[in-house]
Amino acid sequence: MSPRGRRRGRVIPVLIACFYAGVAVGWWIHAAIGDPHPEALVATSPPAATIGEANESTGEPLGTVSAGPPRVAAVSPTAETIGADPIAVLRRHDLRLPLEDDVDVDDWKGHFAQRRGGGARGHEAVDILAPRHTPVVAVEDGTIARLFNSKAGGITIYQFDPTEQFCYYYAHLQRYVPGLHDGQRISKGEVIGYVGTTGNASPNTPHLHFAIFQLTDAKRWWEGRPIDPYLVFKD
Ligand SMILES: [Zn+2]
Repeated sequence: MSPRGRRRGRVIPVLIACFYAGVAVGWWIHAAIGDPHPEALVATSPPAATIGEANESTGEPLGTVSAGPPRVAAVSPTAETIGADPIAVLRRHDLRLPLEDDVDVDDWKGHFAQRRGGGARGHEAVDILAPRHTPVVAVEDGTIARLFNSKAGGITIYQFDPTEQFCYYYAHLQRYVPGLHDGQRISKGEVIGYVGTTGNASPNTPHLHFAIFQLTDAKRWWEGRPIDPYLVFKD
């Protein structure tokens, strides 16, 4: 490989991009303690016009259809696209916790591997209990990739990191901070919303469902490889 061809995101041949487009796996998280969490569905390049609409049966955006492997791991980027262990990369991003309140990261251990939907899906996120209306803050600088309201996740935020390698997902919000919009640049620590119980969260258990996923080369807000936040934030 020539040195000038080594730029990440450009190095993967068109053939591989086409392959991924065919088998791309949609990734999704919906949290509710004790409730089923539809997530980790399969995606095939949803038309832009359908992205904002939810599938009635699953709460997934239309376009995330089961046309390929059901697990997001199937699109694990190759070593060439990652370039490094994504957890190690994220730890160097020096993320801050997503709530203004104190958070005990040790409590997150095992959340990621929990099963949802009667065991059909992985949780692939952490649930952070907090009083309703607790401010939710951006874990890093970045961009609001999408504000999305889904049946399962409720009021949610998808945020890209500054390098657009990762997406942070905040779900079950009570509401957004006023004025928040798609494409908005945000700063680490900036309040973006408030803890709630929208979506399939139990009304008696306000919490933030927080997830991280590694974007594919296509950099689509609904698609990626889930990463355990506990491994990123733990001491
Ligand atoms: Zn959850």
